[in-house]
Amino acid sequence: MKFPFIDHHVHTNFSPDADPEATMKSYINKAKALGRRGIIFTDHVDIDTPVELFYEYPDYKDYKTKIDFLNDPDFFVGMGVEIGYFDTIKTKLDHFINAHPFDFVISSIHIGDGLDFYNNDFFIGKSQKEAYQRYFEIVLEMVENFNNYDVVGHLDYIIRYGDYTNKTYNYNDYKALIDKILKAIIKNDKGIEINTSGFRYGLGVIHPNVTLLKRYKALGGKIITLGSDAHKVHDFEADFDRAIALLKDAGFSEIAVFKNRKATFYEI
Ligand SMILES: [Zn+2]
Ligand SMILES: [Zn+2]
Repeated sequence: MKFPFIDHHVHTNFSPDADPEATMKSYINKAKALGRRGIIFTDHVDIDTPVELFYEYPDYKDYKTKIDFLNDPDFFVGMGVEIGYFDTIKTKLDHFINAHPFDFVISSIHIGDGLDFYNNDFFIGKSQKEAYQRYFEIVLEMVENFNNYDVVGHLDYIIRYGDYTNKTYNYNDYKALIDKILKAIIKNDKGIEINTSGFRYGLGVIHPNVTLLKRYKALGGKIITLGSDAHKVHDFEADFDRAIALLKDAGFSEIAVFKNRKATFYEI
């Protein structure tokens, strides 16, 4: 394939929720076997999170040393990060991101109003619609007030959580809010990722779903990365053929590859 690398959402064993055997080296071997000429890692940094598992994150001076060691002239190893955003840590996030030479930054919402999605806290006392509505409001706050990122992570992945039988949603129920989110992303020259983990979680969809993807296109959105959100080597580039087919179907002909926080576009 023509891309130097394509998967822009990869967790190594530096992430506390990843497979201990998911070493940088093992991903590099897999990327080379797939014919890639590079790779990028995006481990979790969830500053001040209430979720204990994520209290600790890598020392990025050591991390960078490791990345430099693994780089060679024939194979690029990029340093990305997936930050967990919430409004009260904006300044800390800016300091953190600016202190390290990241190639790529994903900004994700992992908690809402201080409440965890995973353990269901966020959903208590809310209807499904209220929970999704509040989630989109939180994403909107992020894209309107924070700029130190390259793509929004797994937009709409709130549907992964909550104890509901029907985990789909109708764009029209949140149209005004979602359009504001997409417009703010586009206006600020940021992008979105297509996150394929929804297939592995049995949701049968990419994040964001195809309706949002088409809306992003219609509003003028151009910057898209692909991300497996792999937490083990097996899932690296998982379901990318399906994702590329959906992207083409939505009218996209290019995807972005990031180095030094700058996008280069490659035809799909
Ligand atoms: Zn995430
Ligand atoms: Zn992730």
